[in-house]
Amino acid sequence: TPFRLDGRVVLVIGASSGLGQHFARLLASVGARIAVAARRADKLQGVVDDIAAAGGEARAFTLDVTDAASVRACLDAVGAWGVPDVVINNAGITVTRPLLEQTEEDFDQVLDTNLKGCWLVATEAARRMVAAGKGGAIVNVASILGERVAGGVAPYAISKAGVVQATKAMALELARHRIRVNALLPGYVVTDLNRDFLTSEAGDKLRSRIPSRRFGELTDLDGPLLLLASDAGAAMSGATVAVDGAHL
Ligand code: NDP
Repeated sequence: TPFRLDGRVVLVIGASSGLGQHFARLLASVGARIAVAARRADKLQGVVDDIAAAGGEARAFTLDVTDAASVRACLDAVGAWGVPDVVINNAGITVTRPLLEQTEEDFDQVLDTNLKGCWLVATEAARRMVAAGKGGAIVNVASILGERVAGGVAPYAISKAGVVQATKAMALELARHRIRVNALLPGYVVTDLNRDFLTSEAGDKLRSRIPSRRFGELTDLDGPLLLLASDAGAAMSGATVAVDGAHL
């Protein structure tokens, strides 16, 4: 099946919790060798152990995506194990506050992580893939808020809109190197990122406006993620794939 990734090296950034942790396990289950990366080494080791217990192969690498030197060092270490065939570019944070209460620090933190971090990881990975003569796939995890807005998350929405455009720009220039770049735009899934908000009264209100009256599940993302990461999506690049149950 074209959805399998047997023997491919897949680097999952932001794999210490939430979507990234789920993606790492999923990709291991279709045969990939998984490099998991984030700041929290203890959490990453837990993911590596789970994958190994399930018969897969994984290694942990720490990095801070806001620090270019850290991104380079991580990519070098991963490259020594195996230059990635696939990168799931998934690190992200948010600060939820009304626009007029957002600070410069909020803005910088969110943009540095979500947009500049995405840029640094994708370009540093692509350089190494090109040097190794390897085609492959990069999946940038954006958000439906990259195309629409909601209250209280202006820097986040701005950063994710940037990720959508970065995806298209990268897809254009990397096509001749046989590297595909696509954006996954998840709807709301309860994780550490948003649990406080989604389980609050404001979260209830938001859910009542979703046609299905439910937030997404991690597994809702499995098929779309595998499509973008594997040969099943071989002719897709520069695409934005929303997985939101048509909810806004
Ligand atoms: P989590 O908070 O559970 O996970 C975020 C991940 O990003 C963690 O592994 C964290 O690891 C990592 N991370 C954060 N900052 C850095 C950094 N500076 N350097 C390296 N890694 C970092 O949130 P989610 O799983 O929900 O989010 C994952 C992605 O999905 C994000 O990009 C988010 O914007 C996006 N998304 C989520 C949605 C949702 O509803 N949950 C909806 C749409 C998009 P550590 O702290 O160990 O560094």
